[in-house]
Amino acid sequence: MPTHPTAAILAIGDELILGQTLDTNTKSIADALTNHGVIIREHATVPDDLDQLTDAITRLAKTSNLLITTGGLGPTEDDLTRQALANTLNQSLIEDPKALVQIRTWFTSRNRDMPEANRVQALRPPQARMLTNDCGTAPGLAATLQNCKIFCLPGPPAEMQPMFDREVLLALATEDAPPVTTRILYTAGLGESYIAGKLAELMHRENPVLIGTTASLGLVAIRIRTHLDAESARTQIDQAEQQIRTRLGPAIFSNKHNLQAHIIERLTDRNQTLGTCESCTAGLVAKLITDPPGSSAAFNGSLITYTNELKQKLARVPKTIIDQHGAVSGQCAKAMAEGAREQLQTDHCLAITGIAGPTGGSNNKPVGTVWIARASKDAATDTRHFLFKGSREIIRQWSATTALTLLRLHLDKVTMPLPCQQ
Ligand code: ATP
Ligand code: MG
Repeated sequence: MPTHPTAAILAIGDELILGQTLDTNTKSIADALTNHGVIIREHATVPDDLDQLTDAITRLAKTSNLLITTGGLGPTEDDLTRQALANTLNQSLIEDPKALVQIRTWFTSRNRDMPEANRVQALRPPQARMLTNDCGTAPGLAATLQNCKIFCLPGPPAEMQPMFDREVLLALATEDAPPVTTRILYTAGLGESYIAGKLAELMHRENPVLIGTTASLGLVAIRIRTHLDAESARTQIDQAEQQIRTRLGPAIFSNKHNLQAHIIERLTDRNQTLGTCESCTAGLVAKLITDPPGSSAAFNGSLITYTNELKQKLARVPKTIIDQHGAVSGQCAKAMAEGAREQLQTDHCLAITGIAGPTGGSNNKPVGTVWIARASKDAATDTRHFLFKGSREIIRQWSATTALTLLRLHLDKVTMPLPCQQ
C-alpha cells in the first residue's frame, strides 16, 4: 500500500506574528493537502528574521516530505525567503535572466518601468527552480533537499493560490498516495462534552478511523477521517457514521450541509418560505440564513423590531402584551413570531426577544434571558425560554443559532430540549 506523504506549512511575516493579518494561507493549504492524502505534520509561523526563517526551513525540511512556505518573496528588505532558502541549501543567490524578463514584462505590460528594487525578485539559489507568478511580481521557488520538496510561494492569497494549485497539486498528482477520506456529520442541540462522552470509545486516537469534533454555539460538527485505501475507507466511514448515529440519534441533521444550508434545502424542497422578527439579535438570524447561496428561494426577509413601538407597529404585537408581560417574555416572542409571519406572508417565522447585556438585566430577567418563538402556518407556535451565559456577542450568537435549531426541529419533525433551555 502506498504511504502518505507528510507536509509542514510555514507562514512568514511580521504582520502574521503581530496579529495584524490573519493567516488564511495555512488554512487553505492544509485543507487542500489533506484532501490530497497528505498528512500535515506541523504549522509554523515566523517573523521576517533571517536566522529564524533559515532555522525553520532547515528544521521542517528534515521532518516532512513537503514544505510549503508563504510570504517574504517581495522586493523589500524584510522579504527574506530567497536568502533563507539559499542558506538552507548552502548556496549563494544568482540572478535568473528568464525571471528578470518576466518581472520586467509584468511592469511594462502595465505601462510602468520596473523599479530597481524588484530586481532582487529574480534571484534564486542555483539549485532552485523559479515558479511563474501570473498574478503579481514575486516568482515562487521550488527546490529539493534530501527527501523534502520545498515550495516557497508568495504571501498574498490571490498570488499564492493559483501557484499552489498549479505547482504543488501537480507535484502531488505524480505521487500515488491514497487520498484521505473524510465525512462530516452536523449536529444541533447537543453540547460538545455530551457528544464526546457518548462517542468516547470511538474517538481513540489509535483507531484506523479518526473521529473528532468542532463545536461552535451549540452546533457540533463531527469529523470522520481515515487514511485507509479508498475501497475499505468508504466501508469504514459508513460504519463509523452508523455507530455515531446510533449514539446521537436525531440531533444529527445532515452529513452534507451546515445548519443554514440544511434549512434552506428543506424549505426549498417543500416550496415554503421563512421570515424573521428580531429584537436583541437585530438581523443576525437573517444574516446567517442568507449565507448559503440560493437562500432567496426560501427566505423572504425580516423585521428588526428593537423598540417596543416597532414591535407593535411592524409585528402587530398588542400593546397589552408588552404592558402586562414586558417585551422580553414568552407572550411577546409568540406574538412577534405570529404577527410577523402574517405581515411577511411566510410559511414560517422565527422571533427573538431578550437581554444581551451587559446592562439591562434584573433579578427576574437576568442578562442572557432570551425568548425564542417559531410560528408556522402548518403547526402550533413553539415558544421557549433560554438563559445564555457569556458576553453580549456570545448571547446574541447563541440566540441566533438556537432559533435556527428550533426551526430545524420542526422541519425534521424532531423533538428535544435545547442547550440552556429553562
Ligand atoms: P509581495 O510581492 O506582495 O510582497 P510576498 O511574498 O513578499 O509578496 P508578503 O510581503 O510576506 O508577501 O505579504 C504580502 C501580503 O500578503 C501581506 O501584507 C498580507 O496581506 C498577505 N499575506 C501574507 N501572508 C499571508 C498569510 N499567511 N495569510 C493571508 N495573507 C497573507
Ligand atoms: Mg512580508
